[in-house]
Amino acid sequence: MEYSSRLEEKSAELGRTARALREANDKLTRLSVQKDAFLGQISHELRTPMTSIRAFSEILRDGDGIGAPERTRYSGIIHDETLRLTRLLDDLLDLSVLENGQVTLHRERVALGEVIDRALAAWQPAGGLRIERLGGDEKVRIDTDPDRLAQVFLNLVANAAKYCDAPDPVLRIAVLAGPEAVTVDFIDNGRGIPREDQGVIFEKFSRVGDTSAAGGAGLGLAICREVMARLGGTIAYLPGQGGGAFRVTLPRKAG
Ligand code: ADP
Repeated sequence: MEYSSRLEEKSAELGRTARALREANDKLTRLSVQKDAFLGQISHELRTPMTSIRAFSEILRDGDGIGAPERTRYSGIIHDETLRLTRLLDDLLDLSVLENGQVTLHRERVALGEVIDRALAAWQPAGGLRIERLGGDEKVRIDTDPDRLAQVFLNLVANAAKYCDAPDPVLRIAVLAGPEAVTVDFIDNGRGIPREDQGVIFEKFSRVGDTSAAGGAGLGLAICREVMARLGGTIAYLPGQGGGAFRVTLPRKAG
């Protein structure tokens, strides 16, 4: 081969290497920015309950003239905030295990209706949400991890209870079985999620609208998305249903 064409080849190779290095460097920068943002969000979420635990425990420690009712109220706040911290840490841990792919699935052949029953049994109703089961396909059997799938369903039911603002809140759960896949829709009659926010709700820490009363950290749907990916299925927002609406899609057989 001629000296000049060898030189050209080498220079093209160097160009490719330089481009690959640049891309790797850009990716590292992006990951580092994401990591910083994530740590910032975690610190923010931890700080709120910690501040209140510190303040109320100091009042209890230093306040001589505090009456019994205040004592009870303040220790109640400390207790609730401690539970919130525990939930937050549990969710963060679960999300990190799911994201790193370290999760062990326990697959079984189960009736889909039984998984829905299990989620509803674990749900502690608050605020009078009424559940309506639609569709006759609950007996359909699927290969899945029933505990993990029930975790997703429970999250959707709990969210409907928290965010459905209708005077008579109702959540409809509808199962539809196709030859390859089964869908389970969760549709409530609340105000739902505005179109411009529908793209972000599955991201970590994303909360939309006025959620101040609901007390979550925006991790629930991110966990649902990761669980569904591990189960070989999907979860998506269903626009145009007039309320909060989510569709879980599952393969009938493990992939
Ligand atoms: P959170 O811990 O805030 O409940 P999620 O990840 O479960 O976090 O939900 C993300 C956001 O999506 C919520 O903060 C809420 O704004 C919105 N959302 C979830 N479900 C519904 C629903 N059924 N109706 C209206 N908004 C909802």
